[in-house]
Amino acid sequence: MDKITLIIPCYNEQDTIPFMKKELDRVMGLFKDVSFEVILVDNCSEDNTLSMMKEMHEKDERFQYISFSRNFGKDSSMYAGLKASTGDYVTVMDADLQDPPELLLEMYEALKTGEYDCAAAYRKNRKGEPWLRSVLADQFYKFMSRISDADMVNGARDFRLMTRQMVDAVLQLEESQRFTKGIFSWVGFRTKWIPFENRERVAGKTKLPMKSAFSYAIRGIVAFSTVPLVVTSVIGIVFCIAAFIYTIYVLIKQTVMRDAVPGYPSLMCILLFGFGITLMALGIIGQYLAQMYLEIKQRPKYIIRDTSIR
Ligand code: UDP
Ligand code: MG
Repeated sequence: MDKITLIIPCYNEQDTIPFMKKELDRVMGLFKDVSFEVILVDNCSEDNTLSMMKEMHEKDERFQYISFSRNFGKDSSMYAGLKASTGDYVTVMDADLQDPPELLLEMYEALKTGEYDCAAAYRKNRKGEPWLRSVLADQFYKFMSRISDADMVNGARDFRLMTRQMVDAVLQLEESQRFTKGIFSWVGFRTKWIPFENRERVAGKTKLPMKSAFSYAIRGIVAFSTVPLVVTSVIGIVFCIAAFIYTIYVLIKQTVMRDAVPGYPSLMCILLFGFGITLMALGIIGQYLAQMYLEIKQRPKYIIRDTSIR
């Protein structure tokens, strides 16, 4: 009998958990000859999330929980869940039911054919999401696919069912600055893409405001591409060449034509522009350095405070 592990990262999800539990029970009931393990990962929620998880565990052994000592974020939660998982097939999904659990049936069937190692869901549209956010997200995924070897499907979610083999591959990437969507794509394997209509959260508020979505995007770019470094180097070289030509021009003008101009405005323009570009380049290099620094420290990706898993 196959076993499927469901990993669900949660942070202050007391409002969504009752809906989630009901829906999971319904969907798990639709499967025949499959056993389940649900790993709920609590990011040190400030509400009743953890006590609700404990209650679920007491009533139903299939539900396990891992509770962190603070909010380590969704990516670390997924890693912790994958590490603790024992299923032959493993999936990651949000607590807010934005990842429709009933898609698991289709995903499982796809993997059972043996043709695929992973069945992943992507949103056909971003209906209901703020306009600016969906435009920026759209552009981000296009940009990412162009500049990195991690080919990302627009609208792709973390929600996917993977074989044990793929899970083990994902676990081999031990970086602490995790951009899981990139990692899923980087490890390769044959993926079946399943589209679905965007859904809004069943309850509660998003835990990923625009600001952290932005830093998530920067982390993704830095983790999976060095193209920004190449681009700044090229800009630097172009500027050097331009400066060299300009110097020759000024020299000729002064020595041959004896035409010394005040030159203040042009100098200012060049200086300001040059400084701007230099600072930008330094900033980009700084991002990479910062990520290397965090990586080199080799801190744990999460710290467990309490868990039902022995
Ligand atoms: N989440 C988490 N830690 C965080 C932020 C989010 O564990 O710091 C969980 C959250 O509880 C949810 C999932 O990650 O189950 C996705 O978060 P959310 O729905 O807020 O993001 P959105 O769907 O708005 O991008
Ligand atoms: Mg959500």
